[in-house]
Amino acid sequence: MSTDTAGRALAGRIAAFVEDAIAPIASAMARGDGPSPKRIVEAAGEAGLAGILTPEAYGGAGGSHADFIEFIERVAHADASCAVILDVHLSVGTEPLLIFGNDDQKSRYLRRLARGEWLAAFALTEAAGGSDAVALQTRAVRDGDTYVLDGAKAFITGAGDADLYIVMARTGEGAHGVSAFLVEAAWPGVSTGTPLAKMGLHGSWTGELVLDGVRVPAVNRLSGEGVGFTVAMSALDSGRVGISAQAVGIAQGALDAALDASRRRRDAGLDVDAVAIADMEVRTAASRQLTRHAAALVDAGRRVTLDAAIAKLYSTDTCVAVAHAAVELCAPESGADDHPAAVRLRDAKACQIYEGTNQIQRVVIARHLLND
Ligand SMILES: Cc1cc2nc3c(=O)[nH]c(=O)nc-3n(C[C@H](O)[C@H](O)[C@H](O)COP(=O)(O)OP(=O)(O)OC[C@H]3O[C@@H](n4cnc5c(N)ncnc54)[C@H](O)[C@@H]3O)c2cc1C
Repeated sequence: MSTDTAGRALAGRIAAFVEDAIAPIASAMARGDGPSPKRIVEAAGEAGLAGILTPEAYGGAGGSHADFIEFIERVAHADASCAVILDVHLSVGTEPLLIFGNDDQKSRYLRRLARGEWLAAFALTEAAGGSDAVALQTRAVRDGDTYVLDGAKAFITGAGDADLYIVMARTGEGAHGVSAFLVEAAWPGVSTGTPLAKMGLHGSWTGELVLDGVRVPAVNRLSGEGVGFTVAMSALDSGRVGISAQAVGIAQGALDAALDASRRRRDAGLDVDAVAIADMEVRTAASRQLTRHAAALVDAGRRVTLDAAIAKLYSTDTCVAVAHAAVELCAPESGADDHPAAVRLRDAKACQIYEGTNQIQRVVIARHLLND
């Protein structure tokens, strides 16, 4: 946002969207019977928030990464499924197009994504290659002015509902043999399986994407042939900042539930666990600062690999720990499936896994330090 006034207007839109569109459906999303991911992004589009990072010239809000993490944290505070749907759409689903797309690609896709008419997804993981992304086996073979894609992607957020997938496929050998493609869901040979039944995040669809002889026009290759690994890692650097914001929102929601229960205990003359409450607050506040620092680096055009990994690791470990503590502080009511602390504990776990597991974040951090 270029001015304080514009920033305040965006903050107001975010607050109103969370209150009007997300909070009322949070329980249904947690049960898995809320609106589909595409409907969530449509609602964000109606509020002018489905392209928060997209320039106004392409129908977006022209916001910063500071705006983006504020949005994701606030949505996650109300509902973590909606947060991951929006996070993937805005960051790894759209940002590669913003950074690596040419004018033709941007003009064909960005407006639809920014208006929430289309849902975007990011397809890197395969059964044989998650942490080790270089092991991916999906092939893209050049045939005239098209590439023919064959392979299967696993654990893809939005699979089955997305309109546009950013697909990493092999055009050669090794890390420099991966290319990124913009693949429309409606093209012949694209299919998806039934969404997985997950332990949490029940409102967010996660599933398989199968590519069976899909003819992708060569003009839909994102950046140069062999640049796909760079596209993916750049997307994940910024995406991890978004996941960190999601984790902060989950932790804050769990802390709020624990505070409600603790105030009721105090008012009834019972002891409260002050140490647990203080520890939950300290870790949540520290996570928020790490997330804001990483977002500020992205906004300043600085390399964020290390700081994004630190923020993602710390915030997502925090949201699991804080949600776990909240379940204990809210007992026995938190034994119920739909208790806010129980929902957040189930939702929190996946944050430690997607966009690079926390073991991999540690590998990234250690490698960075050792190389320096
Ligand atoms: C809910 C959900 C949504 C997801 N959405 C998407 C999506 O939209 N797009 C997408 O492309 N992917 C998505 N994923 C996939 C996710 O990014 C991968 O699951 C993750 O990167 C791990 O890869 P993997 O599952 O292949 O596990 P593996 O790489 O097989 O890892 C298994 C275990 O071994 C550990 N491990 C692996 N290598 C090392 C190492 N070098 N050092 C230490 N430990 C190691 C891992 O940390 C993990 O604990 C999603 C996953 C989930 C659960």
